[in-house]
Amino acid sequence: MPQQSEAIQALVIGAGPAGLMAAEELAKAGVQALVVEAKPTVARKFLMAGKSGLNVTKDEELDLFAARYDSPHLRAMLEDFGPREVRIWCRALGQEVFTGSSGRVFPVSMKASPLLRAWLQRLTAQGVEIRTRWRWTGFDGADFAFDTPSGPQILSPKVTILALGGASWSRLGSDGAWVPWLREKGVLIADWKPANMGFRVNWSRHMAAHFGQPVKGVTLKVCSNGKDRTNGLLQDPTKVAEEHPWKAEVSTVYTSIYAMHIHLRWTFSPTLQPKISLIVSPE
Ligand SMILES: Cc1cc2nc3c(=O)[nH]c(=O)nc-3n(C[C@H](O)[C@H](O)[C@H](O)COP(=O)(O)OP(=O)(O)OC[C@H]3O[C@@H](n4cnc5c(N)ncnc54)[C@H](O)[C@@H]3O)c2cc1C
Repeated sequence: MPQQSEAIQALVIGAGPAGLMAAEELAKAGVQALVVEAKPTVARKFLMAGKSGLNVTKDEELDLFAARYDSPHLRAMLEDFGPREVRIWCRALGQEVFTGSSGRVFPVSMKASPLLRAWLQRLTAQGVEIRTRWRWTGFDGADFAFDTPSGPQILSPKVTILALGGASWSRLGSDGAWVPWLREKGVLIADWKPANMGFRVNWSRHMAAHFGQPVKGVTLKVCSNGKDRTNGLLQDPTKVAEEHPWKAEVSTVYTSIYAMHIHLRWTFSPTLQPKISLIVSPE
């Protein structure tokens, strides 16, 4: 029989950076927060992110920074907690940051682990409780059901925050299993789209001869729906966003694949059949 006894003010499900941040805000507002996490340890994806150098933000003006996201509703949140605030936040946790040549900001240690350690200490001091190996398994009426080390448990918190991550790198915890449970409750959920992705390229024999060599004067071109409406080298995403507000068939040229990611997200679907070309200029 599932146990159901505790009185919980606020429950946060998922102990990645989003869940920990939510718990901290609750604690600051004087609300007792319980964070539950399916994995034996917290923030596994965050730690993985730090393995290759934790890019915490980008050192640029808010207008340009906000234009890099394809969700205008994020603007107000970025105004509250944008590139400047992220740096202040890291420093408050004892992690000095620096700006790399690309404008990306990293902790001096490059890793996520010192940041996470300091953060967990601060959360404990604020009275946040974290329970690991607590997997949310769905609803029991209006309550939340969990598998835990001491068997099935049911919680009926006053407030619940779902901070369950996306659906990539499921071995680190976020597997998207919750989508059907929420859809069944009538919650509208957008289909998954990659925020970041790799590409498999069938390189020509000509290019294969140059593997491992740096190449200069390269243009990347995205073309979808069979249309190539390239009209020059567009470097300013704000301008692109104004001219082509999230049209799936937009075709743009950028010098960097990172700068193209907004368009790639929208053009990458089996029906649109996007094509990416790499043009190596003769000079
Ligand atoms: C290789 C790699 C490199 C990256 N590099 C960077 C980088 O440099 N900079 C950057 O900003 N981002 C980077 N990221 C992305 C970053 O790690 C994620 O955006 C971030 O972790 C998302 O945080 P989150 O809290 O929303 O979700 P997650 O970190 O996925 O946390 C969700 C948590 O919810 C838990 N959970 C899920 N389902 C349940 C359930 N049913 N019951 C209980 N708990 C559950 C999961 O176990 C997990 O701990 C990188 C990611 C990867 C994989």
